[in-house]
Amino acid sequence: MPSHDVLIIGAGLAGQRAALAAAQAGASVSIVSKVHPVRSHSVAAAGGINAALNPEDSWESHAFDTVKGSDYLGDQDAIEIMCREAPDELLWLEHAGVTFHRDETGHLGTRAFGGASAARTYYVADITGHALLHVLYEQLMKHHATVDRYEEWFTTDLLQDDDGRCFGAICRNLRDGRVEVFNAKSTILASGGAGQAYEPTTNGLIVTGDGMAQAFRIGAKLMDMEMVQYHPTCLAGNGILITEGARGEGAWLLNAKGERFMERYAPNKLELASRDVVSRAEQTEINEGRGFPDRTVALDVTKVPRRRTLEALREIVNIGRDFAGVDITREPIHIRPGNHYMMGGVKTDSDGRTTVPGLYAAGEVACVSVHGGNRLGANSLLDTLIFGRRAGEHAASRAGEMTMPSTPTSRVADVERSIAAIIGREPGGRRLGAIKRELGATMNQHVAVFRDGAGLAKAHEVVRRLKVQAPKAAIDDRGSVFNQDVIAAIELGYLLDVAEAIVVAAQERKESRGAQFRTDFPQRNDADWLKHIDISVNGAEAPRVSYSPVTITRWQPEERTY
Ligand SMILES: Cc1cc2nc3c(=O)[nH]c(=O)nc-3n(C[C@H](O)[C@H](O)[C@H](O)COP(=O)(O)OP(=O)(O)OC[C@H]3O[C@@H](n4cnc5c(N)ncnc54)[C@H](O)[C@@H]3O)c2cc1C
Repeated sequence: MPSHDVLIIGAGLAGQRAALAAAQAGASVSIVSKVHPVRSHSVAAAGGINAALNPEDSWESHAFDTVKGSDYLGDQDAIEIMCREAPDELLWLEHAGVTFHRDETGHLGTRAFGGASAARTYYVADITGHALLHVLYEQLMKHHATVDRYEEWFTTDLLQDDDGRCFGAICRNLRDGRVEVFNAKSTILASGGAGQAYEPTTNGLIVTGDGMAQAFRIGAKLMDMEMVQYHPTCLAGNGILITEGARGEGAWLLNAKGERFMERYAPNKLELASRDVVSRAEQTEINEGRGFPDRTVALDVTKVPRRRTLEALREIVNIGRDFAGVDITREPIHIRPGNHYMMGGVKTDSDGRTTVPGLYAAGEVACVSVHGGNRLGANSLLDTLIFGRRAGEHAASRAGEMTMPSTPTSRVADVERSIAAIIGREPGGRRLGAIKRELGATMNQHVAVFRDGAGLAKAHEVVRRLKVQAPKAAIDDRGSVFNQDVIAAIELGYLLDVAEAIVVAAQERKESRGAQFRTDFPQRNDADWLKHIDISVNGAEAPRVSYSPVTITRWQPEERTY
């Protein structure tokens, strides 16, 4: 049985950063990932990472932009930590080997991003996540004596003792189907977001909300779940992302009449207003008949000098050509808002501690809450690294004060039985894929850029029905080697739990703030709703709702304009 001071579930940027920090603090570490670590979804991050590193910029300015971007729902103590620690983290990355773009003077160069009052986004062309993830993985190799990597192992459940403390997890080796207990003094969830609850989404097939559901099931609170980001520039149909870096480099948004419509919605920041504002503007243009017949508007990258596009945005040149048949250096490309990011997640403090003792969370699975109602572009990579590191350090220090918990292995038999039951399901029920597609389409229709009470009630009804159908959905593969059918069946259960938490929170918040725009409650209402919505498990019933205060340090809520 693997037994370590710190178990980390997830090997994207948050998980790898946590592993490095815990190992450097002297802990023994296991890091588990259902895919090879460098295939974690962080690899898809394109546009860059924020830090107020230039002498004329300041962490206070970065923090204020983040607070304003969050529509004042972000916790300002955590935002201050993130923005204050950002410059050192960026330099650490650079020294570790990330080849950030340099300008003609040889200094680290920046690009502008949405909602920011200074150009403070550092980048590696439009493959920043790829560059970061590979460098972190190299660094992790150096710690092979204390960090054990379990690549292509799938965590099914978190373990909890009689006092409610988390002491590890159960994982299945995807190569041969073996199930094992992973014993740990501290456990860190770093298992990413839940974009696959929507269709289409910018998120890959592996982003299925596993950690959010696993934590929720053992009693951890989820927070800000109603805040689901729709990114303004996604390809119609398949949802593939065109990075905000394109607008940062100077691309325009145009409606079907050729109007630069952002002049009407955000006269100062135009295309570089925050994402919730730009997505709503686009959707309004489309809904009011000023979009194209395929319900899109256009992103005009020809405003960027062609040479610059080929140098700094080469990946989206390929995406435009391969997935839309468009040469973006020569003609506008049709885009629309698409599901992209979870601002909500497992509620944590700024050291990554969740409401379950011994369980930490960091990265997109977590909600610290630094993004509140709306995340600024390029603040997520920063969040994964700052709070991944802090969680790793805290988890290691907690482990240093404990003896190794003894773990009953009987839970292995429980998990083996439940997997056997999935394999043994009678044929004839609905297909897993059909259930997942209905979930994604429902969420994209009713829990998207604009929402209302009737649509949310409908979505909740569908999710409850799918929760009854999913446990009966038969699978085809009955083997034990790389059985992705079994994994897809388990993941569907996680997605349905997460989707229900999103819908319940969106029903609860009767106002419009950040990514939650209720057409039946179109105003922000600080008097009643300047608070977090916490969601917790409630047996077989719909999740329970409670509230927690928003931490305000120095920026009082005010009207938000761009
Ligand atoms: C297309 C795209 C572009 C983006 N661009 C940017 C950008 O430019 N700047 C920015 O700041 N943000 C960007 N983001 C957001 C950002 O990339 C993500 O929020 C961030 O990388 C998430 O990192 P993470 O470490 O939390 O999770 P991930 O990188 O998703 O890693 C999750 C890990 O958990 C593992 N895992 C999950 N479930 C299990 C399980 N059951 N058992 C075992 N392992 C499990 C996975 O294998 C993986 O290793 C972008 C997102 C997308 C989709």
